Amino acid sequence: MLVSDDIQALSRAVSGPVALPDSPEFAAETFAFNAATVHRPDVVLGAETAQDVAAGVKWAAERRLPVAVQSTGHGADSAVDGGLLISTRRLQELQIDPVERTARVGAGVKWRTVLEASLPFGLVGLHGSSTDVGVVGYTVGGGLPILGRAHGFAADHVRSMEVVTADGALRRIDAGAEAELFALMCGSKGNLGIVTELEFSLFPLGEFYGGGIIYPGADAALILAAFRDWLPSLPDDASPSISLLRLPEMDFVPEPLRGQFVVHLRFAFLGSSEEGDSLLAPMRAVSRPLMDTAGPMSYLDVDQIHMDPSDPLPFMDGGALLKDLGEETVADLLELAGEGSDCPLLLVEIRPLGGALARAALSRAGELPNAVSGRDAAFLLFVLGFNMPPVAEAVAAFVRGILAAMAPHSTGFTLVNFHGVPGDEADRARAWSPAVYERMRAAKSSYDPGNLLRFGHTITGVPSVT
Ligand SMILES: Cc1cc2nc3c(=O)[nH]c(=O)nc-3n(C[C@H](O)[C@H](O)[C@H](O)COP(=O)(O)OP(=O)(O)OC[C@H]3O[C@@H](n4cnc5c(N)ncnc54)[C@H](O)[C@@H]3O)c2cc1C
Repeated sequence: MLVSDDIQALSRAVSGPVALPDSPEFAAETFAFNAATVHRPDVVLGAETAQDVAAGVKWAAERRLPVAVQSTGHGADSAVDGGLLISTRRLQELQIDPVERTARVGAGVKWRTVLEASLPFGLVGLHGSSTDVGVVGYTVGGGLPILGRAHGFAADHVRSMEVVTADGALRRIDAGAEAELFALMCGSKGNLGIVTELEFSLFPLGEFYGGGIIYPGADAALILAAFRDWLPSLPDDASPSISLLRLPEMDFVPEPLRGQFVVHLRFAFLGSSEEGDSLLAPMRAVSRPLMDTAGPMSYLDVDQIHMDPSDPLPFMDGGALLKDLGEETVADLLELAGEGSDCPLLLVEIRPLGGALARAALSRAGELPNAVSGRDAAFLLFVLGFNMPPVAEAVAAFVRGILAAMAPHSTGFTLVNFHGVPGDEADRARAWSPAVYERMRAAKSSYDPGNLLRFGHTITGVPSVT
């Protein structure tokens, strides 16, 4: 149990604020974008520098207290209970190198900030469906980008990082310095250390075509079959996805669509208006769109492709990698979540993988593949519902139920950023291939033998601190 001397020692060792559960700042310091998750650490540290993170971890290690990290709380799949929570949101350093085509960011930077700084140089980073997400939490989870089929996972393009390991040491690592730790940090989530700074590649952006088509949910069977048949015609520069949406009566939903069950095709394409229109033509003809926003797009509007909520909301989600989108897979999905089903979920989404996502990234990590797994899968199935009364229980049961029912179509694995609530050890292990998992366990034994970093999507196999 912590006594006031302990808290004073932490406050003396750091420059950022330290808050206890009974202090007025505690709620704001621990608040998560996923408002269903309320963290209850023994103490929270608002780190202002990398040295604060190192001092916080060292302080916790001396007291054998577990340590968690949060930037935005977009990935707050489970609550932190006890221990030290380090908030990184004040770590806002940002440097763009337009010549080297790199960005260097502090651990609190969101993708929107990178985008606004890099776009004037004609460069973009590999963010996902919402630029409100934190760069570091997303990237250490692999990072499945909106342009993933063209460029691969975000973790494939990390150049270097600064990381605090469980002994409190601040290390700068890359493909040459502590190569195995570096390779594994790219995809192993927060299991092996807390990143304070990340350097990664940016990509030149030429013409960009993007947006979405919204169809009546009644045509879901037709549209999903057409989607499957259309995919082989697309180049890797095109990244589509499709979802069944039960849209709530909420502000982030465009007025005419509130309360409706619809199918949402999303499309991001690195090319001209003519090519984009021509690629999309078969999907425009398949049913009568209720809304069609696809066309030449300013990249600053990229969040309009998925239209993810930008305000904090309570939600529960989960995901699984699929082997195919064959007739049986589609039929089973529609029986569970199509029109006439009792599905209470906001979103049931299919993201095609393949292209550069399927190719292992050896270039930056020398001979060592990084920890991103699931490259052999054809699709990602992702489901999400609002975790609030009166539907919270039904949503939780449905998230689990739909993933269990779709298991015959799954590879048995998932991506850690889309895993949802971490379950038991076997469930958590589904986020990595067995080979990567064994490498992570070996690294955990060397870098975190006391299992200090043991919240969330944690790996086990090493003795826990008691
Ligand atoms: C609206 C929305 C859209 C999304 N779209 C995509 C998408 O398109 N592609 C995709 O891949 N993912 C996507 N995600 C998932 C998202 O990438 C993960 O939830 C990610 O963990 C969020 O990172 P964060 O830092 O913003 O969140 P946080 O909740 O702050 O962090 C989540 C976890 O990341 C790890 N982490 C955070 N900071 C650090 C650090 N400094 N060092 C080490 N570990 C750290 C920790 O394990 C932490 O628990 C989306 C999530 C939401 C809510």
